[in-house]
Amino acid sequence: MFLQKTIRKRTEVKGVGLHSGKNCTLSFAPAPANAGVHFVRSDLPGKPALRVHASQVSATSYATTLGGDVFSVSTVEHCMSAISALRIDNLFIELDGPEIPICDGSAGHFLEALHSVGMIEQDQPRKYCYITQPIYFEEGEKQAYVVPYHGLRLTVTIDFPHPAIGKQKIDIDINDQSFTREIAQARTFGFMKDVEALQSRGLALGGSLDNAIVLDDEKILNPSGLRFKDEFVRHKALDALGDLVTLGMPLMGHVVLYKAGHDVMNKLIRKIFDSKDSFKHIELGADISENAALISGIYNE
Ligand SMILES: [Zn+2]
Repeated sequence: MFLQKTIRKRTEVKGVGLHSGKNCTLSFAPAPANAGVHFVRSDLPGKPALRVHASQVSATSYATTLGGDVFSVSTVEHCMSAISALRIDNLFIELDGPEIPICDGSAGHFLEALHSVGMIEQDQPRKYCYITQPIYFEEGEKQAYVVPYHGLRLTVTIDFPHPAIGKQKIDIDINDQSFTREIAQARTFGFMKDVEALQSRGLALGGSLDNAIVLDDEKILNPSGLRFKDEFVRHKALDALGDLVTLGMPLMGHVVLYKAGHDVMNKLIRKIFDSKDSFKHIELGADISENAALISGIYNE
């Protein structure tokens, strides 16, 4: 049976906000079956909530921002990548301000918090977005597409004209184990000249070598170096996985990205919604024999 999942009990992650530099707390809390993933601003009157969905994405430069009039939350993709990899269907993510703790710039702390409380199955079958025909999106040299696959697979290629980055590629089947081992610890990265420009505008005030890989024109500035030789492309896979939560349900498909960031991911996801003949919503909970072929190829749950 492939049932929906939430977490067993509340758990917290504390840290500083990337832009404000102020302390903030994120709490993951269990949510009922069929609820989906929601952000909740516990600091605002009435504790407004917003369900994670591609239509709620309001900005994609540097990070993915959700929301608008009532409230917004920024840099959501790192905590959402852990939710995506663990296939958590229903969850409340409570914040005591507009920002998510940046932690060490990876998904490691979020994954650790979720693992520490564990998950619980709920009494409703999970719905998957099952890709039945290829869906393509391209914009200039940036490409993003998704093709049918019995599981969740990511192939990501980046090509930065920088001596410390260059061309990097990763191809990976996503499950709890592979995410934990290969992706979760990969940190975000930025260029010193961009950091200086952001800080002069009062942004990225919490940014430091403790929560990002920072590069000047030639080299990596972090004294401790990299966690993986190709940490940059691994982080791009992390970001893409986080953005996939905006589909509203787990994807069954193979996502291929070339030089694609949050903007292109958001456009690909919107294109999936518009390509009604190229995907279907399936449940693998009701009659397993009907879906035996799919289940035989499915990732480890
Ligand atoms: Zn990122």
